[in-house]
Amino acid sequence: MSNLNIYVVGAGIVGLTTALELKKDFRNASIIVIADSFYKDTTSYVAAGIFRPTSGDFGKSEEITRKWICDSYSYWETLRRSREADLAGVKEISGYIFSRRYPHIVRNKYIEKLVPIYRQASEDELKLCTGDWKYGSYFSTILTDPARYLKWVHQQIENMDVHIKEKKIDSFSDVSGKCDVVVNCTGLGAKILCEDSSIVALRGQVSKVTAPWIKNFFYGDYDTYIIPGFDSVTLGGCRQYESYDTRFSRYDYLSIREKCEKMIPSLKQAALIEHRVGLRPHRIPVRVEIEKKIVNGMKLNIVHNYGHGGYGVTTCPGTSLNAVQLVKQVLLEKNKL
Ligand SMILES: Cc1cc2nc3c(=O)[nH]c(=O)nc-3n(C[C@H](O)[C@H](O)[C@H](O)COP(=O)(O)OP(=O)(O)OC[C@H]3O[C@@H](n4cnc5c(N)ncnc54)[C@H](O)[C@@H]3O)c2cc1C
Repeated sequence: MSNLNIYVVGAGIVGLTTALELKKDFRNASIIVIADSFYKDTTSYVAAGIFRPTSGDFGKSEEITRKWICDSYSYWETLRRSREADLAGVKEISGYIFSRRYPHIVRNKYIEKLVPIYRQASEDELKLCTGDWKYGSYFSTILTDPARYLKWVHQQIENMDVHIKEKKIDSFSDVSGKCDVVVNCTGLGAKILCEDSSIVALRGQVSKVTAPWIKNFFYGDYDTYIIPGFDSVTLGGCRQYESYDTRFSRYDYLSIREKCEKMIPSLKQAALIEHRVGLRPHRIPVRVEIEKKIVNGMKLNIVHNYGHGGYGVTTCPGTSLNAVQLVKQVLLEKNKL
């Protein structure tokens, strides 16, 4: 196994978590992470970081979706209970999801039985926020601060001798012939790299503010969310389909502030720290599969792991573990294991 060469393309939360899981299983393999942007320049850095999957299927089946979610929860929960939790930016959080219009919005079949608490909000709790909230749930879950986690996981893999290289891959011919398998964690970059028209950007913008009195998260209708993190509170948000503009929009900011301050008027006093904009790599289903491609006359084994949309923090450990299994399958077929 010592002469195994594995490339991971992408250094967002998906690529770095995949590299960590690969290195845990293939201790003696040479693993190289290649990416053209890191840390603050990734979508991952923008995420609010809450563990809250969509209630729809985003894997090829309900069974696969459930497995990814359970594996992910177990990964984050193990990290949360470890001594590394603070450094890795992982903690428990609880709060509310409210809706004026639809009861199904406040339910989530995937996490209702997974997290320690998931219950209907009481009549009194429905009055916690301004607005005529009709339906609500209270639940506890996990929050991961991507600014801390990306740093932590980068350090972990470097300590384990994973090499990290800054480079843009223009096509898979850049890596063919150099490795046994390449794991593609390029997020929205896969649109061009894989000529995959089924992945689209869902533009998002959030503002970080100082509001230490906010202890719980709150979700309301029309993509309104208030999520306390480690060093600030995240106010959001928006989801703009097929919008590729990563510049800050003042209009989005004003609308976000208005929505959040309507729910919690004390937020008018919250000082602004910064804005973040990111393009969620939206694809249904998230692509986790093997592709065998002929590149420059040679067979290249690719394991894809991209298209996590607005749920990459929530789901990346689960899809990464799945990707590691697929890497094993490829290596077994090549008689490399
Ligand atoms: C406003 C907002 C809020 C969010 N909140 C949450 C949340 O609360 N919970 C949650 O679970 N998710 C949330 N998300 C979603 C989450 O951020 C994404 O799902 C996740 O970051 C996707 O990670 P990724 O690693 O696939 O992509 P990225 O972070 O974009 O990383 C992609 C990597 O691939 C590299 N790359 C791409 N193409 C190439 C190439 N050709 N050559 C070399 N390198 C390449 C890039 O340089 C980069 O390193 C949010 C997103 C936004 C925008």
